Amino acid sequence: MDEKTIKGLPKAELHRHIEGCVRVGTVIDLARRHGLNLPSFDPAVLELSYKLRAPGASLSAVLGMFGLAQASFADYAAVERITYEALEDAYKKENIRLLELRYSPDFMLKGARLDWTKAHELIAATCAKFEKTSNMVCGVIVIASRSYGLASAEKTIAFCADNKKTVAGFDLADNESEFPSSLYKDAVQKLHRARIPLTVHSGEEGHFSQVADTIKALQPRRIGHGVKAADDASGRTVELVKRAGVTIETNPWSNYLTRAVPSVEAHPLKKFIAAGVKCTIGADDPEILDTDLNKEYSLAVNKMGLSLDDIRYTLRCAVEGSFLSPDRRQQAAKELGL
Ligand SMILES: [Zn+2]
Repeated sequence: MDEKTIKGLPKAELHRHIEGCVRVGTVIDLARRHGLNLPSFDPAVLELSYKLRAPGASLSAVLGMFGLAQASFADYAAVERITYEALEDAYKKENIRLLELRYSPDFMLKGARLDWTKAHELIAATCAKFEKTSNMVCGVIVIASRSYGLASAEKTIAFCADNKKTVAGFDLADNESEFPSSLYKDAVQKLHRARIPLTVHSGEEGHFSQVADTIKALQPRRIGHGVKAADDASGRTVELVKRAGVTIETNPWSNYLTRAVPSVEAHPLKKFIAAGVKCTIGADDPEILDTDLNKEYSLAVNKMGLSLDDIRYTLRCAVEGSFLSPDRRQQAAKELGL
């Protein structure tokens, strides 16, 4: 399928981090405005230390990229601008009609010590305003970063419960091997009681058994990445994902760059679909990972063997698995031609 056809397809995105959406030009502009240090103020040079373009970068290089993004959230105006630009890129450049953005307050707002409630209200209001002037529906998922420990997760969960009206869902992200899902078993009960939908980054690295552990300990509605589930040669893990009705938010290019899969062609998305698992396609961190849904769909069709029917299946799964309200999901289904 050619690029023009792919760009024209209406799309859905359930797995996108606001911290991974800061444009290079915006990093530079905000650094100038706030007197921040950058490796370079020349966009072409800065990209070398801001965009991950091939697998194999060291962890410190990748952390440096996210550090540049984090520093950009220098004040409330910056939070609003970055959120708006993320929405604009999704809508205009990728033709996205259903978008769930996510962010980790403890990470994103830490640098400038911004107030969580004030920043969150601004993000939610920016999404709501954008929704009114476009035919894209959107919502916000709040993340707790596993590596910040249990106390941070509990604080973030309490924050979600207090801001239920503007929180579409909750996500537990990053280092699963050191901070296993079982650690958060009790903490997420508060989410379930408050009926806040849960997604969990799981099976992005480490062993396939982590995916089963996540489903058993946390009962999430969705799993981010989940690629390791395909490593279980017995097929039991994929079967469990299917039986539990969990939707896997796949992010093929991201998995290739972090070496979760050896090549894009080896990504298990097609296998998941063939097994009847609910799957969606996402870009994860479009600016830092140098991708977007145009590229992800192109890889899915041209490298991973997905048909147009498979793409439509992922869109249906996105609408069904979305954390947005039923009326919004219905509107998205219409926009997506489902
Ligand atoms: Zn992610």
